[in-house]
Amino acid sequence: MDLILILGDQLSPGMSSLAGRSPQSAEVLMAEVQAEAHYVPHHRKKIAFTFAAMRQFAQELRDAGWTLTYKAYDAATPCPSLAEAVAQCLEDGRYDRLIVTEPGEWRLRTEMESWSDRFDLPVMLVEDTRFLASHADFEHWAEGRKQLRMEYFYREMRKRTGLLMDGDKPEGGKWNYDAENRKPAEASLLMPKRAGFEPDRITAEVLDLVDRAFPDATGTLRPFTLAVTREDAETARDHFIAQALPLFGDYQDAMLTGEAFLWHSLLSTYLNAGLLDPMDLCRRAEAEYRAGRAPLNAVEGYIRQIIGWREYVRGIYWREGPDYVRRNALGATRALPEFYWTGLTDMRCMREAIGQTLEHGYAHHIHRLMVTGTFALLAGVDPFELHEWYLAVYTDAYEWVEAPNVIGMSQFADGGLLGSKPYAASGAYIDRMSDYCGECRYNVKDKTDANSCPFNSLYWDFLDRNQDKLRGNPRLGPVYRNWDRMSEEKQNAYRSRAADVLAML
Ligand SMILES: Cc1cc2nc3c(=O)[nH]c(=O)nc-3n(C[C@H](O)[C@H](O)[C@H](O)COP(=O)(O)OP(=O)(O)OC[C@H]3O[C@@H](n4cnc5c(N)ncnc54)[C@H](O)[C@@H]3O)c2cc1C
Ligand code: SF4
Repeated sequence: MDLILILGDQLSPGMSSLAGRSPQSAEVLMAEVQAEAHYVPHHRKKIAFTFAAMRQFAQELRDAGWTLTYKAYDAATPCPSLAEAVAQCLEDGRYDRLIVTEPGEWRLRTEMESWSDRFDLPVMLVEDTRFLASHADFEHWAEGRKQLRMEYFYREMRKRTGLLMDGDKPEGGKWNYDAENRKPAEASLLMPKRAGFEPDRITAEVLDLVDRAFPDATGTLRPFTLAVTREDAETARDHFIAQALPLFGDYQDAMLTGEAFLWHSLLSTYLNAGLLDPMDLCRRAEAEYRAGRAPLNAVEGYIRQIIGWREYVRGIYWREGPDYVRRNALGATRALPEFYWTGLTDMRCMREAIGQTLEHGYAHHIHRLMVTGTFALLAGVDPFELHEWYLAVYTDAYEWVEAPNVIGMSQFADGGLLGSKPYAASGAYIDRMSDYCGECRYNVKDKTDANSCPFNSLYWDFLDRNQDKLRGNPRLGPVYRNWDRMSEEKQNAYRSRAADVLAML
């Protein structure tokens, strides 16, 4: 008899660990364990989502005839780790083999590779087939390339999947319509209504458990309206496609006070946990375009995020190896400012981005990249500490997707493997894409005064501090020429204001 271990982000009936096996020849183990729930101070909503969705999936498997051992989190004596849960299951000697779909991070994968010796039993670690590009596909694409740019990977994925293709040409003649997707939004626009789900009995029990057992977790637990079943996640999907997809492109980069979601899909948590299927989502989005219900810039932009960015960052994560999360090409060492955990800061943009993160366990891409990410980059925050923050605070955070976005895209800590230049920007970017600056205690137009926007002086100070590593970057040539043209007095004013800002952190 085989034992199949299913992890908390492997909640799909088509998991490779289940495929080709039957309830006659295998049984299933699922476990809510201390080590996974505590290795970073996860957001309360993330813990609740994971446990509730696991319990629902366990029921789905039981209904399909599987015999299942489910170790629920026991607040008094929690099962310490996945290895311990497996050891307890193997005690009576009924199982001949352990089967697991590979986990989504090096930490667990490396541990599991030692389980065969530890348990003196064959352990089959099978590839996760929920992704469109296998490890071999990505390696094949990456082999021999000097630069691994997402855009070229994405084009291959378009050809391979046939999504938005017109024969062998991209639909509409262009691969990428991003230039049309940078409109700021007006507060007067009618926002799409979001689908929310009342907690059922199982979820209500989990919410009580999180209250009792995780007093030190991050963020707000209630109201809890996330989908935790496949059916509800599909309702959320249909809702996004009908209500928000048509304007997803136009306002993809926009930020507005009090509006956390705008036209974003809010589906990453469900996709990453296995409640939704990426290819199915993309086909549905394409069908909206073909039916004339959503424009090409929106649908192409959306599909690119999923078959492009999502698959590409995963490829990078596994290709680069376990030390990727420790890279620090710019040698940044500052401790993460405390306000990342509280949202208590006078910087309006940071307060909005962190506040909604703590409330919802969610922030859209531009908040993550150009607000909290850019600030940490400019301030020289230690990328590993920042990585642990991102891993903790978002309900969609798993290392395979979070780490390349933080270490690579946002912090340039991999030295430019993932992005051709750092996402450094002054306050002008936030001012253009949001309505935050008008109400901020700082003045975005001021460069070096005591009231000047901190992003402004930190931007130049960052470029100045990192000259030895960044001056040679061709994409930063014009920026450094601007710096060189400034008088020494002006340069010193930037340095001095940046030093004051950094001292305040
Ligand atoms: C610093 C930083 C950290 C991030 N951490 C995570 C994370 O832990 N987990 C996570 O899933 N995404 C992460 N992202 C990517 C992206 O911000 C989120 O996927 C997105 O905000 C999720 O919200 P949504 O479902 O409304 O996305 P939408 O804006 O609706 O985008 C559609 C889908 O595309 C995918 N996607 C979009 N951008 C990316 C990307 N850069 N990498 C991978 N997939 C992408 C997601 O599955 C998303 O659901 C991070 C980005 C940055 C800059
Ligand atoms: S002025 Fe600066 S700190 Fe304030 S909201 Fe604008 S960008 Fe953020």
